[in-house]
Amino acid sequence: MKLKKEAFFYEKLENNRVKCYLCPHGCNIREGNIGICRVRKNDNGKLYTLNYGQITSYAYDPIEKKPLYHFYPGKNIFSIGSFGCNLKCSFCQNWQIAHETPPAQWAKPKDLITLANRNNSIGIAYTYNEPSIWYEFVLETANEAKKNNLKNVLVTNGYIQEEPLKKLLPYIDAMNIDVKSFSNKYYKELCGGELEPVLRTVEIANKSVLVEITTLIVQDENDDLENLEKLFKWISSIDKEIPLHLTRYYPSYKLKNEATKIETIVKAKDIAKKYLDYVYIGNVWGVDRNTYCPNCKALIVDRTTEGKVVDLEGEKCKECGYKINIVN
Ligand code: SF4
Repeated sequence: MKLKKEAFFYEKLENNRVKCYLCPHGCNIREGNIGICRVRKNDNGKLYTLNYGQITSYAYDPIEKKPLYHFYPGKNIFSIGSFGCNLKCSFCQNWQIAHETPPAQWAKPKDLITLANRNNSIGIAYTYNEPSIWYEFVLETANEAKKNNLKNVLVTNGYIQEEPLKKLLPYIDAMNIDVKSFSNKYYKELCGGELEPVLRTVEIANKSVLVEITTLIVQDENDDLENLEKLFKWISSIDKEIPLHLTRYYPSYKLKNEATKIETIVKAKDIAKKYLDYVYIGNVWGVDRNTYCPNCKALIVDRTTEGKVVDLEGEKCKECGYKINIVN
């Protein structure tokens, strides 16, 4: 089943054109055409969302897989995704659902609430493809989830305009936001977007929800340590307690560069640790994924087992009383 759902955040223009204000692209769409994201269509002078209620993937994932290391460590979260994306990263790791139209299953928000209450799940993660361009469905489902005391998590590229972001945030508990680079040129050339709106999303979201950041380090593209250091400094200027995940790129979609050298990621982590309290390496086998107290270095979360909190008293390190940025 498909529901023809009118989109939020658009304006009708002359000659049956519409302008969409959901994301920073601000597409001006002719009748019969779709926006850059492929999921918003001008039908007879009205803008409709094409992926409302369309689920292409779902799973009960460990929360660490999002990745969120500071939000209910050790728990599961019911994770769902649709299709479409408003960026065009040439190294996309989920291109089958971001840039193709795979088979989808129809679901209503209420159906998802039932599923989200099973298997030790704390709520719903909107993930796999870009959730901000699934806006109407995410907002409705998140509202329903909140009423049922479930948590809502967004795993997002952060490419959304300020007004829709601010309307969604009251329903959201945690976000993992991709900051792909600190270079606007990189965003333009490899991702088809701009850096500044993503930074704005981090700043706004961090005021009201738990934010973690992921930066995929791509061999020969954004692995310049000086530029990465600028990013780390910027994050610390917002909040040095924001957890940062530096993840390793493997060849995917259109980009054929070799996998990122592990030594580059380790060096980047060492630099990031000068500015930030919590830095993790992702997509690399055998690295230390534990959380330690930034003050006394006591082990706080042991992820060699099952993400179990081992040394917290309320929000504080049991050893030294330092406040740890973990929602538990
Ligand atoms: S959400 Fe889609 S249609 Fe709207 S501005 Fe962004 S890319 Fe264009």
